[in-house]
Amino acid sequence: MPEGDTIFRAARTLDRALAGRTVIRFDSVFSQLTRVGETVAICGRTIERVDARGKHLLIWFSGDLVLRTHMRMHGSWHIYRPGERWQRPHADMRIVIATNEYEAVAFSVPVAELTSARDLERAAPVRDLGPDILANQFDAAEVVRRIEAMPDAEIGDALLDQRVIAGIGNIFKSESLFAARVNPFARIGELSRADVERVVDAARRLMRASAIRRPARSAVYGRAGRPCRRCGAVISRRAQGEHARVTYWCARCQPVSPKPRSGDEANSRTI
Ligand SMILES: [Zn+2]
Repeated sequence: MPEGDTIFRAARTLDRALAGRTVIRFDSVFSQLTRVGETVAICGRTIERVDARGKHLLIWFSGDLVLRTHMRMHGSWHIYRPGERWQRPHADMRIVIATNEYEAVAFSVPVAELTSARDLERAAPVRDLGPDILANQFDAAEVVRRIEAMPDAEIGDALLDQRVIAGIGNIFKSESLFAARVNPFARIGELSRADVERVVDAARRLMRASAIRRPARSAVYGRAGRPCRRCGAVISRRAQGEHARVTYWCARCQPVSPKPRSGDEANSRTI
């Protein structure tokens, strides 16, 4: 599933191609986007901007209209010049937004909704999103508070809960926990605040870097059975949580009960 960094890059590419342009053609297989007789005709509107909120991609049109899409497992947006051959089958087409300069095509996108700015903020799922890991204004303390509010949950599961923190998916779950040296299966109540803060800081640092540049090579994700880049131990892999999302970790770098590395950290656990 694409994560926040992928959606962020897709939104930036779409924004560069579409912002400020007028829609000359709009097609969709989704009847809720093309209903006849409603006042939501998109043709003729200006695309104001494209941005991302967590894993949701938002296309803002003039006249207070927002198209929200979510990629789930296989969805993607492509940009083409008019008449250019698509790289995916026409049968996978879900939405086309054409301007004089570009065609934006959504393939296999399962979730699409037209709404207003106000309704977007007031309705699920955007209303319920936790702080966006990639937002310029990021409230790390609020994320730590939300994580610590679920002491019985495993930290690996909590990072995927979009109501706790928006934008993290399976890759950066594993990568962030490795970078922070925290075991993915540790109960949050067993972790110190410093542990949780390190995980949140690592997630933001790694995902911001990936959103701005190309994705870096992974440290643990997809590397089961291969040597840890830090210590040489074999990387482990196991399904985690009710959705059986695969988690990768190094049992030596990320022990179940990490030893406090300083007196300060030991003291912080007793607060
Ligand atoms: Zn290791």
